[in-house]
Amino acid sequence: MSWFSRDDPGNEKLPKLDNGERRVRTEGLWQKCEGCRQIIWKKDLEANWSVCPKCAFHFRVDAVSRLKLLLDGGEFEPFDSTLTSGDPLGFVDSKPYSERLRAMKESTSLSDALVSGAGTLEGRRVQVCAMEMRFIGGSMGCVVGEKIARAIDRSLAERSPLIIVSASGGARMQEGAVSLMQMAKISAGLMRLDEARIPFISVLTDPTTGGVTASYAMLGDLNIAEPGALIGFAGPRVIEQTIRQKLPEGFQRAEFLLKHGMLDDVVPRPEMKPYIARALKFFVA
Ligand SMILES: [Zn+2]
Repeated sequence: MSWFSRDDPGNEKLPKLDNGERRVRTEGLWQKCEGCRQIIWKKDLEANWSVCPKCAFHFRVDAVSRLKLLLDGGEFEPFDSTLTSGDPLGFVDSKPYSERLRAMKESTSLSDALVSGAGTLEGRRVQVCAMEMRFIGGSMGCVVGEKIARAIDRSLAERSPLIIVSASGGARMQEGAVSLMQMAKISAGLMRLDEARIPFISVLTDPTTGGVTASYAMLGDLNIAEPGALIGFAGPRVIEQTIRQKLPEGFQRAEFLLKHGMLDDVVPRPEMKPYIARALKFFVA
């Protein structure tokens, strides 16, 4: 997301200050839409679920806002919010993983790439997990795995439906095989949920890729996505190089996947909450 610099045309709409200066107060007030390239008043965008009022482009939303958008009164009881990775491999790339984690915790005020909580959705008690792209690309490591596993346990204990909102670049490289094990761990937990006949709704948002797509994001009783979301396993360039073919237009976008039977529905963000409420009414009755 790019913020406007002082010289952007959006400044024209602002009233002149006493000294004739138009520029000073504009930073952070306007945002350019990545869909239609128009300039949007940031307050209008926030009031519209972070969906462009002009072209319906869905901006990315952070994990805490996700929970607030889904739960009644925007209120939720957070769980495991201090759970943090112990750097099992002592991994170092351009900098030590432990240092990367520390920087991420500081910049996001989160302990890892997933926020979990419980609340009510149109009056029904639910467990909700939302992934945070800003935290090492929303990557799935041992903390994401453990937090989802615990959310599943709570769902089982109180027989409340589970909703996971995914946004992820896939497994966390810095945790190697440990991150890949989370796929099996979560999938096994979801199986128990299935056996107990408790619904799990998977919401795929932009982008949902790699090991997350290859495990829980596609294991919902309902797999629904936001419009325009990039969803896939490998990226398009890797696929093109492997199969030596040009990929069709819109490949790996939510609408394409729906058309080809990989998703159950594409649901605009403002309709997501009532949609899930209706689905749960159908599942649980
Ligand atoms: Zn737009």
